[in-house]
Formats: sequence, C-alpha cells, structure tokens
Amino acid sequence: MKIAILPGDGIGTEIVAEAVKVLNVLDLKFETESALVGGAAYEAHGHPLPESTLKLAKEADAVLFGAVGDWKYDKLDRPLRPEQAILGLRKNLGLFANFRPAICYEQLVGASSLKPELIAGLDILIIRELTGDIYFGQPRGRRTAVDGHFPGTEEAFDTMRYSRPEVERIAHVAFQAARKRSKRVTSVDKANVLETFQFWKDIVTEVGQQYPDVELDHMYVDNAAMQLVKAPKKFDVVVTGNMFGDILSDEAAMLTGSIGMLPSASLNSSNQGLYEPSHGSAPDIAGKGIANPLATILSAAMMLRFSLNQAEAADRIESAVKSVLAAGLRTVDIYSEGTTKVSTREMGDAVVAAITKTTIKG
Ligand code: NAD
Repeated sequence: MKIAILPGDGIGTEIVAEAVKVLNVLDLKFETESALVGGAAYEAHGHPLPESTLKLAKEADAVLFGAVGDWKYDKLDRPLRPEQAILGLRKNLGLFANFRPAICYEQLVGASSLKPELIAGLDILIIRELTGDIYFGQPRGRRTAVDGHFPGTEEAFDTMRYSRPEVERIAHVAFQAARKRSKRVTSVDKANVLETFQFWKDIVTEVGQQYPDVELDHMYVDNAAMQLVKAPKKFDVVVTGNMFGDILSDEAAMLTGSIGMLPSASLNSSNQGLYEPSHGSAPDIAGKGIANPLATILSAAMMLRFSLNQAEAADRIESAVKSVLAAGLRTVDIYSEGTTKVSTREMGDAVVAAITKTTIKG
C-alpha cells in the first residue's frame, strides 16, 4: 500500500502531521511519500500541481490531503491559484464520487446552532457527483446576447449536463453505500424545472430497481435544503449532482456545528481516493498550533476503510476520537466551558494514546 501525503498550505501541514502520527501507531504495512501541493508547490515549482506531485498521486493507492490556499495568492491567474490543485487532482484521478458524512458526536451536540433534539445522534452521508454538471459542462463563457430579455447586451452562461454513465455510476455508489447503512437513499434533483435533473431522476429510479432492498425517494433541492435544517435525521444517504451537492454538503456539515470535525473522501471507479478534511487552509490560525486535527484524522480513517481495505484499523481510529471527546479534550473551535482546551499536537497525541490503549487491551 502506498499513501501519497500532500499537506498543502496553512494549517494543512499541522493537521496532516497529526494524522500521519496516528496512522503510524496502527502497526500497518504501508509506504508513504510526501509532496508539495497548492501555494507551497507554486512557491517551489511555479505551479500548484507540479507533474511530480500528480505522478505520485496517480501511483498511490490513496492520497491524504491537508488543505490549500491563502489570500495572498488571490491575485494570481486562475490556473496558478492553489485551489486549482484540487480540481486538477479530481480530474486527473477521475474522482467522481465525493463522500461527506455529517455525524454529530454526542459530546458536541451543544456546538450546533440547531436544537439538540434535532441533531443528537445525527449520522447522514451526502454523496456528491464531483466531475460533471454545470461546473464542467461546455460551452461556457461571456458573449453578447442574441435573444433573451436583453438582446444585444453582455451575458454570461454555463452548461448543465449529465451523461447516462455519469448518473448510473454515482447512483450505484449511493445504493451500495446505503446497503452498508440503513438502506435508504434520497436522490436530490430539480426535475420540476431542469431537463438534466429529470434525466437524473429517471436514471436513479432505473438503477434503484437493481437494489430492491434499498428504499429510494426523490426530493427537490429546495425542499432538501429546508428539510436538512427542519428534520435532518430523516435522511440517511443523500445522492445529488455536483452543484446541489456542493451546497447541501456544506449545509449538512454545519448542522454538526464544527467544521474541524468533518472528514471527506473522493473516490474513482477503482476505489483509489483522495481524503481530506472538509475545511480549508484556515490562514487566520495557521502556525498557531491550535487547529483541530480531528477532521484529517477521521479522513485517514475513511482512507483505511475505502481505499486500503483496513476497516478494523478505521474503527480503531474512530473509537479513539470518540474517547478523547468523551474525556473532554477540545481544540479551540469546539471548546466549551467545563472542557479542557488542547493544542493541535496534544489532540493528536491523545488520539494516539487512546489507540495504543485499545491495542494493548486487544
Ligand atoms: P476555512 O475552512 O479555511 O476557514 C473557515 C473558518 O473555519 C476560519 O475561521 C478557520 O480558522 C476555521 N477553521 C477551519 N478549519 C479549522 C480547523 N481544523 N480547526 C479550527 N478552526 C478551523 O475557509 P476559508 O477561510 O473560507 O478559506 C481559507 C483558504 O482555504 C482559502 O484560500 C480557500 O480557497 C481555501 N480552501 C481550501 C479548501 C481545500 O483545500 N479543499 C477548501 C475550502 C477552502
């Protein structure tokens, strides 16, 4: 097994170091190789995703990614900005399925802006299609309008499109994931208005017939946005397109109240994946040693489960995280009165200690 370690920028280097520390105590056989990505790679090689980094990512079984970006790069031409590295990796590795679990840990119920009874025990999985839809559809651009409400004026346009195989493969991913959970899929669309999403809905329904044991329902995206804050526990697996998924997965993430806790996985058809926290490089707290490393540590657990076939090791990491939270340890983003404030490194050390304890106990 080979893991490419791409820490990136800002807090990326701090949180990935803790995740690597956790992986190293698991007594698994794997090789790791690190490379620069994002702003750090731009500084060293003049490009946010140098050929050598891309080659390493392609050859590895999995990529553990920190975060990229800093305000200081906002004036660069778009292709040279750190965030382009993520898009380049998704495209080149064919990472079409994005998994974003939103789990509310018992000890962090108070961190959500929703009432505790609405989110206690929340455990939903948003599956977002990641390489199609209006984000990638061509043509796109600016031109002079020839029709519409204001012909002859400047206009901008994008193209929303999905092909049958793109919808089929993400639908299969969702039904298979649901089989490992409580066997319910909600497909989110806008079939009442958009041709693309009537097509989406028809195909998801067709694929669903191959999974008679999984309950499928459909919901319009506006209603889904509402239901996520009204009764989030009604959902189990949610599958949707790239743009709706972008928005709904952030909404679902914030239900738990703590972006520093949320892992994510992006997979291709051979289960090779890129694993990263759902948050960014947090330049405002970078270098202070206070970032929460748990989202990255939990991303490493997802990596073990999905790409490296090490479900037991993944369970051990997840249990260790629960136990450090139960012991009252908190980084500043999840701190509340009566708990113990710890640094990034102390949190990583505590997870390592909890794993070592489980190992000794067997
Ligand atoms: P952000 O997620 O980096 O930060 C938002 C807020 O959450 C900040 O106040 C930050 O301090 C806090 N935060 C984030 N992660 C935290 C953690 N682990 N522990 C404690 N607090 C945490 O989003 P932003 O500020 O909008 O963006 C900062 C940079 O990150 C930008 O350059 C943006 O483009 C980039 N970004 C990168 C990715 C990625 O690499 N996948 C994703 C989102 C944003």
